Formats: sequence, structure tokens, C-alpha cells
Amino acid sequence: MERATRYSKKREAILSAIRSSDAHPSAEWIYRQLKPDHPDLSLGTVYRNLVLFQQQGTIQSVGVVNGQERFDACTQPHSHFVCTHCGAVIDLYQIPMDAGLAGAVEEIYGFQVERPELTFYGTCKTCMHQKKIEEDQVL
Ligand SMILES: [Zn+2]
Ligand SMILES: [Zn+2]
Repeated sequence: MERATRYSKKREAILSAIRSSDAHPSAEWIYRQLKPDHPDLSLGTVYRNLVLFQQQGTIQSVGVVNGQERFDACTQPHSHFVCTHCGAVIDLYQIPMDAGLAGAVEEIYGFQVERPELTFYGTCKTCMHQKKIEEDQVL
């Protein structure tokens, strides 16, 4: 069972890499983090495990940002802010879930809402600061 042990070790490493970050990492990010310690790790293995974790409900996808799917170790419903400049995905834990909004979706469309989450898109503070520096340099 040596092979199986090594396999689950990799699986554990992938899961703890997601859990150790609140940056909502992509498969590529996880792969780059783990590759030095796991030289035989492939990007395909990372993808396969991410699919498995999602099926198990251990993690969830927060959608595709700048062409890369991003993952969240927090599976409780919560909203996100996505910076369209740097691709940062930030948790908005302080924004209350609007039960009225989910209710409206169910009432008007007849769907059953299971994840009442909102995603806001815009410019994060770091990028706003960066933009200001660039503007000041031009002047
Ligand atoms: Zn940004
Ligand atoms: Zn999140």
C-alpha cells in the first residue's frame, strides 16, 4: 500500500495548501506551492483532487477569474469581491446575506437557492493605490 499512502499524502498536501491561504488559489498556484516538496506532482493530479474535494463538499469553486478557476476552503455561503485588475478574490464576511434576495429568486424563477452568494467586481485597495501612484507620476 506504499503507493496509496503516497497518493493520500499528496491529497492532504493539496487540501492543506488551499486551507492555508485565504487568497482563493487556482490549481496552478497550488501546483507551484507544492512542486518543490513534491517533485513528482503533476498539474493533472492537482486538478483531479480539486474535482474530488468539490464532489465531497470539502471545498468550493468561486468561479473563473482572469481565465483561471479559483477555489475556496470555506464552504459556508459568503460573498466575494473580485479585483478585475490583479485578480484578487477577497471574502466579504461582514456583508450580511440578504435573505430577501434569495427569496425573490425562488419566488420569481421557481428555483431553489442553495448558495445565496454575491460577487462584486471592481478595483481593490492595492490596485487603487497603484493607480494613484501612476497618475501622480504622469502629472
Ligand atoms: Zn487588485
Ligand atoms: Zn471565500
